[in-house]
Amino acid sequence: MNFSTRPQGRPVTPRVDPDQKIWTDMLIHLRASAPEICRQWFEELEPVGVTGGVFRLRAHSPVHRDYLNRVCNRQFAEAAGTVSGRLLTVRFLGPEDDVKPRGSSAAAAAVPSAAVPSDDPHAAHREAALDGPRGEPSEFGPMSPAPYRLNGAAAAASLAELYDDGLPINPDYAFDNFIVGPGNRLAHSAALAVAANPGRAYNPYFVHGDVGLGKTHLLQAICLRIRETQPSAVIYFTSCEGFMTQFMDAVQAGLMTRFRHKFRHVDVLVVDDVHDLSKRDRTQEEFFHTFNSLYQSHKQIVLSCDAPPEEIPDMQERLASRFKWGLVANVAPPCYETRVAILKNKAKLRGMELPDDVACHIASKIDSNIRELEGAIIKLQVVSNIEKRQPDMELTRMALGEDASKPEPKIQIQTIINAVTDFYGVKVTDLQSKRRQRSIALPRQLCMYLARRNTRYSLEEIGGYFGGRDHTTVMHAVRTINDRRETEAEFANVVRSLEDRLRAPLA
Ligand code: ADP
Ligand code: MG
Repeated sequence: MNFSTRPQGRPVTPRVDPDQKIWTDMLIHLRASAPEICRQWFEELEPVGVTGGVFRLRAHSPVHRDYLNRVCNRQFAEAAGTVSGRLLTVRFLGPEDDVKPRGSSAAAAAVPSAAVPSDDPHAAHREAALDGPRGEPSEFGPMSPAPYRLNGAAAAASLAELYDDGLPINPDYAFDNFIVGPGNRLAHSAALAVAANPGRAYNPYFVHGDVGLGKTHLLQAICLRIRETQPSAVIYFTSCEGFMTQFMDAVQAGLMTRFRHKFRHVDVLVVDDVHDLSKRDRTQEEFFHTFNSLYQSHKQIVLSCDAPPEEIPDMQERLASRFKWGLVANVAPPCYETRVAILKNKAKLRGMELPDDVACHIASKIDSNIRELEGAIIKLQVVSNIEKRQPDMELTRMALGEDASKPEPKIQIQTIINAVTDFYGVKVTDLQSKRRQRSIALPRQLCMYLARRNTRYSLEEIGGYFGGRDHTTVMHAVRTINDRRETEAEFANVVRSLEDRLRAPLA
């Protein structure tokens, strides 16, 4: 059988799709002019065509479309203008979006048939009647849904609008991009369970930890996963601040029924940074009732906080105790190996290949806040763009603000042991023994700390040097020394001078 429809003998010039050409050129332009917004998945965007001065691009998921709308409008328009030589605006479509301007149908599709309080001019009066006297905290109890209903498409559209003001979900914060290590293993596996079985696995899911350790990332990963697997679920993601502001506005406008309807008719309520409820008595009261209402109807509650429930200052006991009903998980600072993996992942997301030595170097320099690791990747991307070459050690040291003309010191664990045993007058065999008395435990912890900061050995390897201790012991040592450095100036000086000494012969 002949599959060819081409007349024989005529030369073939491959036809270049003009829209595809604009998009390919735009992508090259964007990678050079705005690397910070570029993501690897941009390659998957499909040009739909140019009509009336508008160039349309289709994204494979609504989350990607939303990211483009939120972050990329200006840069894309500039790129489209530059590569086409025409004045073009760029519109982003999601997988289901019509080429014509979007109506309410797309948003409405994801909405259940719950009753929606209308926003008609009389609402405030009806609300006042329902709510009782305004501003009375004691009046804010659980309530039934509004007494009037909208049906069909109007209800769906109105409900979609109701949830339109949630915080944007960042497609970068998917489970696929979350690196698991000893510090976040539990938080991560519980988050997966919650996303697989909302309202049933752990309710509430409560994650706490210091800033920049991945709490918001996990919360959004849950939202993204549920949105993918249960597209009809109503998910509302907001900050605690958002909850508070909406509550205060609703009280003032006499729109408490609408507020309550909104927060009590979701399938998944995700509130970031609930420590902000501290000292806010009335908001705590309202949140308490929201919590109860959702919990009783097996709706999933997901919360993040900078402290475990019992340590949130000025938090009502009954609320703090409810936070513990499901699963409380902690996120701790990442170990060296996790940091290296995070760096590689962040670079890949931005379409950048990170050599091993570069990732290891950054990971050894930045050891607490993951946001800083990401900052380093962004700087490196900018520098590598300016210098027009792939990231290497020289560019990395430039990006980190190090003096690239000096060779990078290579410190051995033995050098550390020598310096510390010398200073404290202890023997190497003591450090490697099981003895726990303070005069030995402190120098041993200091060695581990210095090794962690100044070498590329893994936690396990460092533990191995000091009597076969496991990685948690090394992490504990690093934390202990860090804490002491922060509280005791004299001790901080000792650590600094030892560190100078380690580097001195190498400078
Ligand atoms: P938090 O909410 O705890 O302050 P975020 O969730 O905002 O922290 O995380 C800060 C940055 O670190 C984000 O870019 C996030 O993607 C990244 N991050 C944190 N933990 C991880 C992880 N385990 N894997 C990959 N990226 C992470
Ligand atoms: Mg956060």
